[in-house]
Amino acid sequence: MPGQPKNKGLRPNHPEAPSGFSYWETKGWLQDLDAVVVGGGLVGMSAALRLRQRHPNWRILIVDRATVGGATTRNAGFACFGSPSELLEDWQQLGAEATVALVKMRWDGLQALRQTWGDRALGYQDCGAVEAFSDPALFTACRDALPSLNEALGDTLGNRPFTTDVKASDAGLTRLEGVIASPLEGAIDTSRLATALRMHLHRENIGLLTGHEVTNLTHGQGCWTIETSEGHIQAPCVLVANNGWASALLDLDVQTAPNTVLVSQPQLGLHLPSTVHHDRGYVYAREVDGRVLIGGGRHWACPTEAERVERLKAWAVEHIAGVSRFEVEFQWQGHLGVGASRGPLIEDLGDGLYAGVRMGGMGVAIGTLVGRKLADLV
Ligand SMILES: Cc1cc2nc3c(=O)[nH]c(=O)nc-3n(C[C@H](O)[C@H](O)[C@H](O)COP(=O)(O)OP(=O)(O)OC[C@H]3O[C@@H](n4cnc5c(N)ncnc54)[C@H](O)[C@@H]3O)c2cc1C
Repeated sequence: MPGQPKNKGLRPNHPEAPSGFSYWETKGWLQDLDAVVVGGGLVGMSAALRLRQRHPNWRILIVDRATVGGATTRNAGFACFGSPSELLEDWQQLGAEATVALVKMRWDGLQALRQTWGDRALGYQDCGAVEAFSDPALFTACRDALPSLNEALGDTLGNRPFTTDVKASDAGLTRLEGVIASPLEGAIDTSRLATALRMHLHRENIGLLTGHEVTNLTHGQGCWTIETSEGHIQAPCVLVANNGWASALLDLDVQTAPNTVLVSQPQLGLHLPSTVHHDRGYVYAREVDGRVLIGGGRHWACPTEAERVERLKAWAVEHIAGVSRFEVEFQWQGHLGVGASRGPLIEDLGDGLYAGVRMGGMGVAIGTLVGRKLADLV
């Protein structure tokens, strides 16, 4: 009828103050949502895709404050489950059972990731890894612990995970006390994983609203109000998947830990056949397209970021064969989500609010399964 509003069901988004969202944005993407996912990384996207499988007709929106991405597009792409020195430390601190459980979670997660997207789509390289030791005492301790580690993890991984029958020179490394190989690990092309996920979101009609920070969550009348930097959205169900930033919204034990990554100029004659871990995984390196990627060093007490960068460069020059000069051509920081205890938090917080956060340093491995478990709580 002339003069009657056509969209009677379209509620004003922000009755008490003009919303930053337009009528069209509200109508097209933000109205009548069934679920909102806060955080569009591997966990948030995996959770949204799982929700779609279970609820084909739901209106699902992911909100992310970044315009490009978080740790999911800023990581090193190691498909790993823990280097010997890291696992030995876990073993000493958490015990054998908990260490095996951590490795199992990462291993199962890696298999889920590879089965979901396929090795081709991920650019998966079955390259193995080595741990590079410059501390003689740590090398001896890890070498002595290998029989126990291999025995404890053999059932989970279906194979002996670690071996000492490799030389540093075979791994493209030099000036070390020794190396331990981890042939079951690999590497992915991080950008390909993110691209596969985003293409799939699009296909599954899952909205992705970037550049909007969620600043508060309040509950009333069976619905969550999700306040963002440009107005608010409502949905009965909210999945928080913002990793290290979760404690800004929820009372959870999560902190952000910045992590630096450098990529060098192309290096002639570089030959790093495997990924490289050093010092409990705090330093990591690999070859990408003829360049050295090196990152980490957050355990070094460096007064400035510039000093950490110099130490990472110096490590590469000292220990990677053939690298005499390291010019930084790419440098970025990403943020890990860490807490007092290892392992992610996957929680039903009540009233349709769920959290899947704190991915630590091996989120590539565990992110797919954490996202699915988060969605399965709904
Ligand atoms: C430098 C670096 C190297 C790494 N290397 C490896 C590796 O080699 N192998 C491995 O297994 N793991 C690695 N990781 C860890 C892995 O990348 C992460 O654990 C994983 O990507 C986490 O996924 P996520 O979805 O939980 O978090 P993220 O990818 O960080 O996604 C969280 C998203 O939430 C958004 N967000 C935060 N707060 C808000 C808010 N209030 N409102 C809206 N959006 C918000 C952020 O913008 C972000 O996009 C690395 C991490 C870093 C930082």
